[in-house]
This record gives sequence, structure tokens and C-alpha cells, in this order.
Amino acid sequence: MGETIFSKIVRKEIAAAILYEDELALAFRDIHPQAPVHFLVIPKEPISSLDAMTQEQRGLLGHLQWVASHVAREQGLSEGGYRVVTNIGTDGGQSVAHLHYHVLGGRHLSWPPG
Ligand code: AMP
Repeated sequence: MGETIFSKIVRKEIAAAILYEDELALAFRDIHPQAPVHFLVIPKEPISSLDAMTQEQRGLLGHLQWVASHVAREQGLSEGGYRVVTNIGTDGGQSVAHLHYHVLGGRHLSWPPG
């Protein structure tokens, strides 16, 4: 599975506003923010989407969600709340085939999404 722009961000070949990094995960600001705070949490490993996850990788999913909440707290989103979402495939609106959680906050978010 493939190389996407996010693999280049992991390897620091493309600049990104990185908010958190460890050996498994990276969080960086979305280049087209849809809310006052909008960042992405990705595994460093190039997994195409949530749909490609195996049972053995479920610990990684927990870690990615912890990173999402940790950075959201650092960004001051805990009080007002925020949304964590991952788009999957064509109908899900996924445009980059590297698993990523969007974390959005800093304004009221409507529901349901379009
Ligand atoms: P999705 O449509 O769910 O696949 O989300 C992909 C997200 O990646 C979009 O919100 C884009 O704005 C964001 N994105 C694409 N390229 C970059 C980049 N170079 N740096 C940061 N975010 C990016």
C-alpha cells in the first residue's frame, strides 16, 4: 500500500505544522482547516484507512485516539468539546489514502454531516 502525501510528511520531506510526534503517530494541522482548530492524527505506518485495520493493529487505533484527545486537550478544546472523525473510501469522503483522524473544535459543529 501506498505512498501518499502523508508518508512524505512522516519523513519530513514535506513541511507540516506538527503538534505531536512519537514512534507510532503524528499529529499536524490540516492545511485547509474547517474549524478554528483542525488537526489530523495519523499512524506513521501507511495504512490506507480504518477499513484496512487488522485485529493485531487494534492497539494502534487506541493509541491514535489517545493522541487525538491529548492534543485536543493541549489545544484547549476540552471545555467546549470537539469532534473526532475518520473518512473511509469514496462514500465516506476520503481524499488521502492514509488513515487519519480529523480533530475539529473551537466552534459549534452541526450534525449530521452532509
Ligand atoms: P480526507 O478528505 O478525510 O481524506 O482528509 C484529508 C485531509 O488532508 C483534508 O482535510 C486536507 O485538507 C488535508 N491535507 C491534504 N494535504 C495536506 C498537507 N500537505 N498538510 C496538511 N493537511 C493536508
